[in-house]
Amino acid sequence: MSLTVHQFACLSDNYGFLVRDEASGYTACIDTPEAGAILRELKSLGWKLDLILNTHWHPDHAGGNADVQAATGARVVGPAEVTRIATLDREVRGGDQVQLGDTRFEVIESGGHTLGHIAFHSPEEKVAFVGDTLFALGCGRLFEGTPEQMWASLQRLAALPDDTTVYCAHEYTASNARFALSVDDDPALRARAEAVFAARERGEPTVPTTIGLERATNPFLRAPVLAERVGAAGQSDHQAFAAVRAAKDMFRG
Ligand code: ZN
Ligand code: FE
Repeated sequence: MSLTVHQFACLSDNYGFLVRDEASGYTACIDTPEAGAILRELKSLGWKLDLILNTHWHPDHAGGNADVQAATGARVVGPAEVTRIATLDREVRGGDQVQLGDTRFEVIESGGHTLGHIAFHSPEEKVAFVGDTLFALGCGRLFEGTPEQMWASLQRLAALPDDTTVYCAHEYTASNARFALSVDDDPALRARAEAVFAARERGEPTVPTTIGLERATNPFLRAPVLAERVGAAGQSDHQAFAAVRAAKDMFRG
């Protein structure tokens, strides 16, 4: 039982992921930010694609579905909202399971960035592909959902074991870190921010992250602790989250 994850940069700041169940050789890609890049990576690895797993309908996640499907014959699994821009072979929702050879993924409902957003979690492999819900030191913008919905989604992800490796879909970490430092001066955050700035200066990715690291330093997960800093003292957790999200939307740094 083992899963190999191949991560590569594409478009301006997206990450693409190819995952292979080593026992069976079955291979999937998580989202299709850029068909050409995915097909190139498959070719250089010598992998044959069986499955496309979509997290949400946005073009930088499902826009390459048709071309990747045409070139590989892969089946497409995703939330119903993907049919806004592509076809699905199987519609899944929170609580469903997706099998890739011997590797089992649980679908976690993670709406908020889009209404139907989902994440894919393998408890055995301790990996989660979270699309645009949870970012390293950040979270997705609320294009469709409410703060309450997004807070509930983030809590579902934060409840995964601390040693879960989290693959997010964008390299936004340096700008997320600048915002985080504006609302939080916790030493763990300051240390992490320094490491993030240094890694980016060396041109290194800051993805993946882990649930434990995000729980300790991500200002969105720490919203209840930061409530006073963002003018939400005494309010409920999701209201504190809404205030952190609003502050980030206004932040220019
Ligand atoms: Zn998106
Ligand atoms: Fe995106």
